[in-house]
Amino acid sequence: MSSTLVNAAVGPSAVAPSPVSKLPDVGTTIFTTMSALAQTHGAINLSQGFPDFDGPPELLERVNYYLTHGFNQYPPMMGVAPLRQAIAQKVEDLYALKCDPDSEITVTAGATEALFCAIASVVHAGDEVIVFDPAYDSYDPVIRLQGGVAVHIPLTGPAFGVDWQRVKDAINERTRLIIINTPHNPTGSVWSEDDIHQLRELVSDTNIYLIGDEVYEHMVFDQQGHTSLCRYDDLYARSFVISSFGKTYHVTGWKVGYCVAPEQLTTEFRRLHQYVTFTVNTPVQHGLADFLQARPEHHLQLPDFYQAKRDLFCELLAPSQFKIRPAAGTYFQLLDYSQITDEPDHVLAERWTKELGIASIPISVFYQDAEHCAHKALRFCFAKDDATLRQAAEILCKL
Ligand code: PMP
Ligand code: GLN
Repeated sequence: MSSTLVNAAVGPSAVAPSPVSKLPDVGTTIFTTMSALAQTHGAINLSQGFPDFDGPPELLERVNYYLTHGFNQYPPMMGVAPLRQAIAQKVEDLYALKCDPDSEITVTAGATEALFCAIASVVHAGDEVIVFDPAYDSYDPVIRLQGGVAVHIPLTGPAFGVDWQRVKDAINERTRLIIINTPHNPTGSVWSEDDIHQLRELVSDTNIYLIGDEVYEHMVFDQQGHTSLCRYDDLYARSFVISSFGKTYHVTGWKVGYCVAPEQLTTEFRRLHQYVTFTVNTPVQHGLADFLQARPEHHLQLPDFYQAKRDLFCELLAPSQFKIRPAAGTYFQLLDYSQITDEPDHVLAERWTKELGIASIPISVFYQDAEHCAHKALRFCFAKDDATLRQAAEILCKL
């Protein structure tokens, strides 16, 4: 092709029309927005959920080993065998589920990709999907991209529990999927055995699929067990269970997660995954496999590790004006600011980032309609060094 032709096609006067958006109502995510604001104002960033400490040195060493020993070409589409085997072993040890690493486990580019592929695997135009508000921000747009309809049911009360009567009333012949997120971002609530019992009753005679977004599976506190969908054979039979190594190993930037699902669901999941990312980078997969095998105690210690951080943060804030209900799980703590101000949460989160130098996440943005958020609360991430938590608490106690 001659350079004249190329220049004519893309010269400065050639302006492409804006595409017709499939998500015209969607802006930049709150996590990106608040982290950018925190950076601009030099604020302590307790907004976007990520640790301010690094992953285990031995894990970093293993990844470095593979990176420098020739493990840099495409791995298999579904993930490297040692990692899938290690995940299968972990799922069996923790949840007594025997699953086949070849036909039931797929390694993904973070839980985000797994959520996309799982939703797209089962949701067709006109299908309804039940999500609980406040809902993690990716569910609703991905459902709508499939032509599906997200049916938002608010969690209720100070404990953000599921109103099972409302779920029952919402189910009809168009209901294709229910998305469960326990431990729950942004509220820190966790499901009980009774929730599982109620779910079982509602779906047993239906064709409804389930997604278990369980990225905080190792952050359940006060000796409560994690109600993974992997634990219940009848529920697992209709489930995509999703987790994230980013959370478990303090390496959110690596973006490696996985989906465990019965063979017929995994087959469809991989049909999409192979065209979304095809696969996930090789050295990190091998490094994770080694670390999972050598150090299973790492994830077993996580509940205590994060519970200590939750307790420290809550103790430090005890003299403050905030109303605090300690999180039952995740690495997020909601702080009810209703005794301090009646400003809307998104206004306050922005103001405190700029004026106090502390960034948080407003929770009303996770509702279909912010007006439905009855809470005056902000979300603070406590996956931080104790010194950072002390600094943050000092500021918050002055309010
Ligand atoms: N689900 C929930 C509830 C999350 O909080 C997150 C983000 N941290 C994700 C999914 C996405 O995880 P990943 O970073 O592994 O894509
Ligand atoms: N899951 C993280 C949080 O809740 C953010 C992930 C992201 O930035 N997309 O803060």
